[in-house]
Amino acid sequence: MKRLSSALVVVIILLTPAHAAAQRRAAAARVDLIVSGGTVVTMDASRRVIEDGAVAVEGGRIVAVGKRGDITRRYAAGEVIDARGRAVIPGLINGHTHVPMTLFRGIADDLDLNEWLTKYIFPAEAKNVTEEFVRAGAQLGLAEMIRGGTTTYCDMYYFEDAIAEETERAGVRGVLGETVIDFPVPDNKTWPDAMRYAERYVARWKGNRLITAAIAPHAPYTVSEAHLREVRAFADRTGAPVVTHVAETRKEVDDISRDHGARPVEYLARIGFLSPRVVAAHTVHLTEGEISLLKQNGVGSVHNPQSNMKLASGVAPVPQMLRAGVAVGLGTDGAASNNDLDMWEEMDTAAKLHKLTTNDPKTLTAEEALALATIGGARALHMDSDIGSLEAGKRADIVVVDLDALNQTPRYSIYSHLVYATKAADVRTVVIEGRVVMRDRRLLTLNETLIKQKARLLRERVTRSLR
Ligand SMILES: [Zn+2]
Repeated sequence: MKRLSSALVVVIILLTPAHAAAQRRAAAARVDLIVSGGTVVTMDASRRVIEDGAVAVEGGRIVAVGKRGDITRRYAAGEVIDARGRAVIPGLINGHTHVPMTLFRGIADDLDLNEWLTKYIFPAEAKNVTEEFVRAGAQLGLAEMIRGGTTTYCDMYYFEDAIAEETERAGVRGVLGETVIDFPVPDNKTWPDAMRYAERYVARWKGNRLITAAIAPHAPYTVSEAHLREVRAFADRTGAPVVTHVAETRKEVDDISRDHGARPVEYLARIGFLSPRVVAAHTVHLTEGEISLLKQNGVGSVHNPQSNMKLASGVAPVPQMLRAGVAVGLGTDGAASNNDLDMWEEMDTAAKLHKLTTNDPKTLTAEEALALATIGGARALHMDSDIGSLEAGKRADIVVVDLDALNQTPRYSIYSHLVYATKAADVRTVVIEGRVVMRDRRLLTLNETLIKQKARLLRERVTRSLR
């Protein structure tokens, strides 16, 4: 009798839902993290949007994307981020900035590039930029970028090795270009010193999961032909990406044409500088022939609509570049010329700017604008096998965006909503390389109060230096 009752208990246990759930869990594969629920906007090749979707993450990579029911049946996670009622998108990619220039935010506005650079920026940099300054500015910019859902950025500045350390510490992904230029700058006073710095810097970060160390010749009008050729050889030998400014202003086109008898992209092609390692910011003033040269040489282009508008540099032929198959991304440029690192504003501006200049509201749709800031940016940085979309096998850079703010209510179309209505402040949770760096709007890797204090102190120093 006693034996019979214990057998009965076993049968009852086997039939309870709790046991069934436990058995399912045992069958499910363990993963580190599941982002569960919400509208998953994958930005994959078929532009899949999954309602009530989920993303499973293991070892810093995405292992599966699908319906929440399927994912939670197949996987069990140590950590679950509840994204129900929210959007889940690939991390945004800021394809061009100068992150420490956050400390020069608003230092001089309403000027053209030449006057702005030579009268204000270069002197302010000469008097203020130290490694300490660069670290403080990088922290400020990194905090701003995480808050806005940017998970990868492409930078060019001085003391880039220190920027790389700050970026890694913040848990952000970066293609970080050490700037080389034909005059003495804060970190290196001669060209050979700058190249030696670049050599050490690129070697140091080789194989890092977050940091891609790059070399960044400032522009074809500030770096000589011989030095540009040297940079190309350096990139071929080390595999480092080359980040640069190209064809930003009419003046640049005139000067390069006068000095080299060719337009900027033609000149760079002629001297063998262009390659699939090059990331060219701006590319505003291009002929059809130059667009073909960018495509033929596999050069990535980064569009900076707000910076180009503010400095009245011109409008990049983005629709033409896209039609020609050029990889085009989107960037904010430095905060001294924009004046923030907000990729939501850039998407919105890009979509509207090209409608205006082509006189056609069908140009650059909301979906295409979001693509520029995600998979397009990944292609422009030559990293699309790793980032830019939510797909199994890619690195787990995932952003959860609230959809219930007043400015987002009500909702009809997810792409329209993300590009035309959503603000950086609507970003809720940010995951980079599988690690949560902002949870429910709380930064986990950076101290916002300290960062702001330091920035205000440095502003006083900058102001004094310019008197
Ligand atoms: Zn720039």
